[in-house]
Amino acid sequence: MIVVTRRSTSSQRIDEALNLLSKERLEPRTVLWDDETLLVTRTNPPSTITAKLEETEIVERLVLPRHKAQLASREFQKEKSVVTVGTAEIGAGKIAVIAGPCSVEGWDQLLETARAAKRAGASLLRGGVFKPRTSPYEFQGLGEPGLRLLAKASEETGLPVVTEVLEPGRVEVVAKYADMFQIGARNVQNFSLLKAVGKSGKPVLLKRGMMTTIDEWLQAAEYILLEGNLNVALCERGIRTFEKATRNTLDLAAVAVLNRETHLPVLVDPSHATGSRDLVAPMAKAAVAAGADGLMIETHPSPESALSDPHQQLSLEEFERMMEQLDPVAKAVGRTIR
Ligand code: PEP
Ligand code: MN
Repeated sequence: MIVVTRRSTSSQRIDEALNLLSKERLEPRTVLWDDETLLVTRTNPPSTITAKLEETEIVERLVLPRHKAQLASREFQKEKSVVTVGTAEIGAGKIAVIAGPCSVEGWDQLLETARAAKRAGASLLRGGVFKPRTSPYEFQGLGEPGLRLLAKASEETGLPVVTEVLEPGRVEVVAKYADMFQIGARNVQNFSLLKAVGKSGKPVLLKRGMMTTIDEWLQAAEYILLEGNLNVALCERGIRTFEKATRNTLDLAAVAVLNRETHLPVLVDPSHATGSRDLVAPMAKAAVAAGADGLMIETHPSPESALSDPHQQLSLEEFERMMEQLDPVAKAVGRTIR
């Protein structure tokens, strides 16, 4: 249950309501949602309790969501959330494109990519510096020096920066340089990390895990929201199936399901979903047509020599061409892309 309290409610009244709910073992939490105070309980209580609450006159609105991910649900908030990241908006009419290399490899590589991304109409810059690699022998990222390069590239181009954080202990240093955290597929259910980025208050791009159901994914988002961090965007990046022709299987139906079930903006990453350069533009177009609020596209000045994911990154020219092809698709679904 979510109780949206009346603005005039005194803290004493809130405490009384919290006591009432605690006695019923509903484990109430208070969450500041914009300028409203919410009381959120573990489960929906019986009508005897909701009736008692109504009597206390603290209730502006009482929501009994079907969903376990209560704050993320459309039942709680009908209109789409807009996540603001510096100059970029995710979830507004314009489709937000996050572009940049899989890994930050050096200053020249990053700056050239950032400038081309900006020129072609991207609104955010990506680049991994803490890389979650399957093999410990593979390039692990530049670490903190890479964060400084990202911040510098952001300063040069004006593009806000998204980068992955792998552990709670690094949340603070990543927050110092980046505008948005990325929680990668492998960490979608790292609950201490979710709580840590929730507490930081900075925008979070939460990628779907390769074995995560939509329901589990939304509950992961709920961990962040429950810390009072409302700036959460979801990113579908493919799930693991029996199919081997693509790196993962892009679940585009998830975009439509999420648009029905949640107010959180939804992005699609066709790079990790397909693992193959030639499939990125077609799937990006399909994602926009399906109602995605944004795209994440890996781009690199010379993809073949990239230190990670060389097969799926677009060259800067290919990225520009893809953006041109996306214009009419966005228009056809009542959106713009740049
Ligand atoms: C990435 O975007 O850099 C990445 C590692 O993606 P994922 O977590 O989706 O595998
Ligand atoms: Mn990658």
